[in-house]
Amino acid sequence: MRMYIRFIYLIFFITASSCSSTRVAKKDDSKIEVVFVQVNDVYEIAPIAGGKEGGMARVATIKKEYLRKNPNTFLIMAGDFVSPSVYNSLQYMGQRIRGKQMIEVMTVAGTNLVVFGNHEFDITENELQDRINESQFDWVSSNTFHNKNGKIIPFEKRQGTNVLPFPDRYIMRLRDADGTTVNIGVIGLTLPFNKAEYVSYTDPLQTAKTIYTQLKDSCDAVIAITHQQMEEDIKLAQEIPGLAAILGGHEHDMRYQKVGNVFITKADANARSAYIVKLNINKKRKETKVITSLKYINETIALDSTTNEYVGKWTKIADDNYASLGFDARKVVQSSGETLDGREKEVRSKFTNLSKLIVEAIADACPQADVVLINAGSIRVDDFLPTPITQYDIIRALPFGGGIFEADMKGRLLIKTLEAGKKNLGIGGFLIYHPAQYNANKNEWTLNGKPIDSAKTYRVALTDFLFSGKEANLDFLNKNNPDIVKAYEAETSPKSPKSDVRLAIIRYMEKKK
Ligand SMILES: [Zn+2]
Repeated sequence: MRMYIRFIYLIFFITASSCSSTRVAKKDDSKIEVVFVQVNDVYEIAPIAGGKEGGMARVATIKKEYLRKNPNTFLIMAGDFVSPSVYNSLQYMGQRIRGKQMIEVMTVAGTNLVVFGNHEFDITENELQDRINESQFDWVSSNTFHNKNGKIIPFEKRQGTNVLPFPDRYIMRLRDADGTTVNIGVIGLTLPFNKAEYVSYTDPLQTAKTIYTQLKDSCDAVIAITHQQMEEDIKLAQEIPGLAAILGGHEHDMRYQKVGNVFITKADANARSAYIVKLNINKKRKETKVITSLKYINETIALDSTTNEYVGKWTKIADDNYASLGFDARKVVQSSGETLDGREKEVRSKFTNLSKLIVEAIADACPQADVVLINAGSIRVDDFLPTPITQYDIIRALPFGGGIFEADMKGRLLIKTLEAGKKNLGIGGFLIYHPAQYNANKNEWTLNGKPIDSAKTYRVALTDFLFSGKEANLDFLNKNNPDIVKAYEAETSPKSPKSDVRLAIIRYMEKKK
């Protein structure tokens, strides 16, 4: 068992100066307050919604404000930050950025402690190792380990000759101005969802129970920082009713629940809000009072200037990348109207307003097409897109981009494709189609009210990735399929909306404005 202890010593000028005067130093009152500023699921370093919401520079300001009042203030990230991000596909100094922008900005913003989210394992083993090494904050990982060529070991941070294995429990030894000391135990859990080969998990609930039992007598309070489904957090609270709080992530819209005496908090994704979780510990009475409040992060909160400088540096790198692709990233394409839903779980299981908008935009760019098809996996934003929506929002919603192809295909291939797409429920190969429809009663695919005819030829517009045969269970969908009657020439000029699916969406939204 690995025990990682962080000593946080405060300098008390008051105590020091009182020695030289007649004043008496404050006596230990056996009470101490600890403040956690919690964010989770942050993929954007800069404010979103036209600058109105979120932004890591505002998170930094909040942390600094609490820290000024109480030195025992800690900024916590409850998973999902290095990916998915549009930055991942961009280059900087000859290398893919892959979360580097987020690690740097989180460090400057004063992040103290993080857990892995499932998206941390979207990037390669080497890339993640580089990001970990770059981080100047601590990690705790109770159930998630490094599978290094078959050997299961803790992940570790390597800086110079220092090798710091991630602890499976984290102890904060804190002290306040009047000398009250306290030990806070932290358990860090990640849902075993991303099956990257280099990651190995133990059962989150069982692991937490074991560690809690070992910690509870030596700690004044134990919290869990988790990145898992709300149902799992509720189970955790039920099974370990002695936990003070569960600071969670993964859902993207704020969650709050009290299960027994355990508080579960999750902030909105992309730092649209932060949870402030205060532990008021009375050591004498062996009591912990938890006070939570959700803080919306909007224009009323100033941007921390140092953090903002780093955000600006990365924003410029990104904008220059987009400009070379024909985009004007800061331009607003939709100023008001409904929030678009790009959450991964939603777009991979049903048609959201965002998925519908994309296929309608492609249909608009390809007026001769009978049917439009896209794979849900091309939508990677895993979040809501509130208005005002900029070109950048569309770029980050579909970070891979890619051209639109058109092909004439036999109805039987179209039906086979639609069937496979329907079976891909829950994964990236789930197909979004327009204006074809599925009639479940008759188990029949229709187009404009008529059944799709196996022998007839249809003109289909689809993304280049989908037409490459690389999508799950759709390998037959490629130019060499004998049921492809004709594949049309691709349009590559940035003047044509068919050159990039994102341009097609932007043009369509601008037309509707
Ligand atoms: Zn997640």
